Amino acid sequence: GILVRDLSKHFGSFRAVDNVSFAVPAGQLVALLGPSGSGKSTILRIIAGLDSADGGGVELTGEDATALPVQRRGVGFVFQHYALFRHMTVRQNIAFGLEVQKLPRPDVAERVDELLELIQMSGYAGRYPSQLSGGQRQRVALARALAPRPKVLLLDEPFGALDARVRDELRSWLRRLHDEVQVTSLFVTHDQQEAFEVADQVIVLRGGRVEQMGPPQELYERPASPFVAEFLGTVN
Ligand code: ATP
Ligand code: MG
Repeated sequence: GILVRDLSKHFGSFRAVDNVSFAVPAGQLVALLGPSGSGKSTILRIIAGLDSADGGGVELTGEDATALPVQRRGVGFVFQHYALFRHMTVRQNIAFGLEVQKLPRPDVAERVDELLELIQMSGYAGRYPSQLSGGQRQRVALARALAPRPKVLLLDEPFGALDARVRDELRSWLRRLHDEVQVTSLFVTHDQQEAFEVADQVIVLRGGRVEQMGPPQELYERPASPFVAEFLGTVN
């Protein structure tokens, strides 16, 4: 799982992340939900090792990762604008992390085929990113992130740039995929409906603080504050 302890991060005198603690149980898909500017991406970047915290720590599958560089954390990530390599085919994109790991070539090919099947894009191995739809690109990005079998998967609004219909399809697809792969995942979104549809548990952030965490049903039935109730749309 992922354990975040008393995390804080300042930008100048501004507290973007203010003493945040939470745990993502192993194998769960948890949504980090909050309005724009509430600190979601900052927290994800700190967990990934792309940014450092001013205080607090991060544990990944029981190991202290606070001081580990990004390459040694065993995290996979998919960001809204974390683009594919444009001059590489779908196959080469997915294989990238495996070649970095120096996996023997036949094993790379086998793993890529397995992932292409998982994202239902077996016929697309030879295409370039420019020859794919936005939704297909994000599926390839997900396959690339999953290829080296990360301990945890971090997703920052992976479907944010897509139109509503495609986003809807990918949500339910992500949920099914997660049930199959069961990798511990933290999914950032500002869309409460998205969080409720895909996640086992939802963490509601407000101004860099955790306002509430629990299963969707519980948040919906027992919001901890007027902010949560309003944000989830339970009062109107
Ligand atoms: P969004 O939904 O818009 O992506 P977010 O919840 O991901 O928002 P963050 O990107 O984590 O929000 O930013 C949290 C706060 O920290 C914001 O007020 C933002 O302006 C500020 N911030 C983030 N990165 C920096 C930075 N590098 N320098 C200064 N301020 C920053
Ligand atoms: Mg963000």
